[in-house]
Amino acid sequence: MQTIDNFNFAGQKAFVRVDFNVPLNENLEITDDTRIRAALPTLKKIIADGGSLIIASHMGRPKKNPDMKYSLKSILPHVADLLGTVVQFAPDCAGEDAATMVANLKAGEVLLLENLRFYAEEEGKPRGEFATDEEKAAAKKEIKESQKAFTAKLASYATCYVNDAFGTAHRAHASTALIAKYFDENNKMFGYLMEKEVIAVQKVMTDTARPFTAIMGGSKVSSKIEIIENLLTKVDNLIIAGGMTYTFTKALGGKIGNSICEDDKLELALELLDKAKKNNVAIVLAEDAKIADAFSNDAHTQFVNVNEIPDNWQGLDIGPITEKKFAEVIKNSKTILWNGPTGVFEFDNFTSGSCAVGDAIVEATKNGAFSLVGGGDSVACVNKFGIADKVSYVSTGGGALLEAIEGRILPGIEAIRGY
Ligand code: AMP
Repeated sequence: MQTIDNFNFAGQKAFVRVDFNVPLNENLEITDDTRIRAALPTLKKIIADGGSLIIASHMGRPKKNPDMKYSLKSILPHVADLLGTVVQFAPDCAGEDAATMVANLKAGEVLLLENLRFYAEEEGKPRGEFATDEEKAAAKKEIKESQKAFTAKLASYATCYVNDAFGTAHRAHASTALIAKYFDENNKMFGYLMEKEVIAVQKVMTDTARPFTAIMGGSKVSSKIEIIENLLTKVDNLIIAGGMTYTFTKALGGKIGNSICEDDKLELALELLDKAKKNNVAIVLAEDAKIADAFSNDAHTQFVNVNEIPDNWQGLDIGPITEKKFAEVIKNSKTILWNGPTGVFEFDNFTSGSCAVGDAIVEATKNGAFSLVGGGDSVACVNKFGIADKVSYVSTGGGALLEAIEGRILPGIEAIRGY
């Protein structure tokens, strides 16, 4: 498989799919440029080699072409600043102008294409309302056809293809997956960011050092079932934390007061426990909880056994006994995956459990464990606690990472690597 480090971009025109879907405020100013910064090593390598760089991304979910709220022109000055060079802009990613600008792009020059999703062909889904199912089916067929032409057009700009957009790797879109077939295996590769993400997932899911502990937190079992089911075939220990705790506790006959609970998932919780036993996976559940008399940072609190929560009280974090229990398991692990907080970490009075888990992961990492943190709120957690650089890897891909740990093949990865 081709790698970006081994590839000399001199004299090449590189089409680089990045994820510049950054948050903007109402004045269309960038409020967090992490995603742009994450792609810089790849972009800079191509420029330094003397390649011509074509940068392509989506932003937001535009419903028409163009929808200036989602124009990549808003981020153009900042991209140029970060790259330290002039960046040209093609105001229509698949228009005549773009083709001319690409053709005239010299060695070391950079061109940013307008938002790929201004074309429905990027996602390959028809837009608008349809009166009948037949009309919808016809529109779907039509867009699949025009998607081929759109993809071929994008591919025609370049002599090589680099995918550095892990955040969209779970989508089989024109620029994230379909385009790859226009390049032979020596001329398509992951960017540095994508490479790091793929290696991190591999270290956790396939080349696993044992014991392997996953900490699954967050609010609901229902949004994590597929991940839990897949993890039950991989991990040695599965720590169940966060709001999910109470569905499991209730299923086991405990009293959970007003704690968050999915009553339609009680049976499923028992099935998961049973499956864990069959697979020799140790399920680690909370023993005590920090409970509150309201869903508020200022509520009255107390610590109780997790299965003895009084009426009108709710569990908003784990208690100190559980913190110790979880930390012990984590510190004895060689591979750690953390997804989801142990409690309502947005309230300062209920961060202690998540913080304890974070600290234990940092200690295990210091002692040689590989730790991957990812998927939504756990990233916010490690940032809040200032430990992002003390774990092995913090994933940039929310949905993509979750699908990878569900055991799914990601189209953006498959398109480059094959399986
Ligand atoms: P998720 O997006 O599923 O990872 O869930 C993250 C959310 O779960 C965060 O906003 C937490 O505040 C919430 N959460 C964690 N523990 C609890 C709990 N015990 N009760 C209610 N919400 C919780």
